[in-house]
Amino acid sequence: MNKIAIIGGGIVGASAAFYLSKAEDFDITVFDEKTGQATSAAAGIIAPWLSKRRNKQWYQLAHHGAALYRQLAQDANLDTQAFSKVGVFVNRNKPESLDDLSRLAQARIKTAPEMEVIEKWDKQTIVDRMPYLSDWAKPGLFVSGGARVDGKHLIAQLETASNLTIRNGKANITVKNHEVLVNQEHYDSIVIAAGAFAKELVSPFGFELKITPQKGQLIELQSNLIQADDNMPIVMAESLSELIPIGNHQVLVAATHENDAGFDLRATQPEINGLVQNAEVTMPKLAGHIANMITEVRVGTRPYTADFAPFMSTIPGFDNVWIANGLGSSGLTTGPISGKLVADDIMSGTGFDGYTKPISNYLSEI
Ligand SMILES: Cc1cc2nc3c(=O)[nH]c(=O)nc-3n(C[C@H](O)[C@H](O)[C@H](O)COP(=O)(O)OP(=O)(O)OC[C@H]3O[C@@H](n4cnc5c(N)ncnc54)[C@H](O)[C@@H]3O)c2cc1C
Repeated sequence: MNKIAIIGGGIVGASAAFYLSKAEDFDITVFDEKTGQATSAAAGIIAPWLSKRRNKQWYQLAHHGAALYRQLAQDANLDTQAFSKVGVFVNRNKPESLDDLSRLAQARIKTAPEMEVIEKWDKQTIVDRMPYLSDWAKPGLFVSGGARVDGKHLIAQLETASNLTIRNGKANITVKNHEVLVNQEHYDSIVIAAGAFAKELVSPFGFELKITPQKGQLIELQSNLIQADDNMPIVMAESLSELIPIGNHQVLVAATHENDAGFDLRATQPEINGLVQNAEVTMPKLAGHIANMITEVRVGTRPYTADFAPFMSTIPGFDNVWIANGLGSSGLTTGPISGKLVADDIMSGTGFDGYTKPISNYLSEI
């Protein structure tokens, strides 16, 4: 039995554990202190194809990550609370911008068949398909292969589908004469999947990890006045918040991107007000009432790199210690594939070619 320690049970750690546990010859322990976990606060969108980002490695990871979800949903027996292919609707306020978006989508579908069907939706189609937005109803593009993921349900279901031991609480790493210990114990392989909190786990190797925390808040609304159900697409309204219907007259409004809040996990009123104001633009008849419909505020800390791209690698000089990090605001899309790539590299040395820039971009020697 190959003894493996995974530090961090967010989307990266839970996915790596899931894929490793399929191989059956690993004894897997996941250490997780849960504090500030980005994954369990996150709910969002799997639809990387409409992004204009030029980072090739990011697009390869995100587009293959979106495709992987179909298989993962079957293999891990995910229910529709964790993953649901409801489609995504993206509006553009100017007709020429919508034409640009449509051209991008048509180009991308050639290599991303998981986008499935692309349609332009006019006002009437929006009214028919998403009645809760009928007073806003701005034309846009619908991509039927887009999906909704709820991080909290996803990792709970991945853990259930995996054969592993979970140790709640903080893990630390010590490095002595090139031997690496986790909480003073030896492991054959170690995966650092600690998100925004990974710096202190990397410093014992003599490196500073170049990641920064970004706070995210989202609000959950519920009211019989919201005519939304869980089969409706996710809405990416231009310059506004994303709307994610989750059933039972509930809609999530996501999310803030706060670069100066450090690891603060408090829900804060100005940011919540911003989300409420955005929701009022898309549901104008409910203006003045939305703040009273808030049933939950979710807060988490995303890990960011300077080039906004995730990375995966072994730690230089330590070929039994892996790290995957920097998932930023597309971590629900890139998380499962990052965990799978790490698991595959542990099992078969497959590497990360095409998916990440060199680890030296994200570390500096102390
Ligand atoms: C509000 C919000 C909305 C989002 N919306 C989207 C979206 O729509 N689409 C999308 O793709 N992405 C979205 N994201 C981003 C995505 O959630 C993150 O990029 C992703 O979850 C990061 O996963 P991770 O596994 O790297 O880190 P995390 O989920 O943070 O997991 C790391 C875990 O490691 C644990 N840990 C750290 N150090 C230690 C230690 N020493 N010992 C033990 N445990 C430790 C932490 O407690 C934590 O549980 C959103 C994030 C937030 C906060």
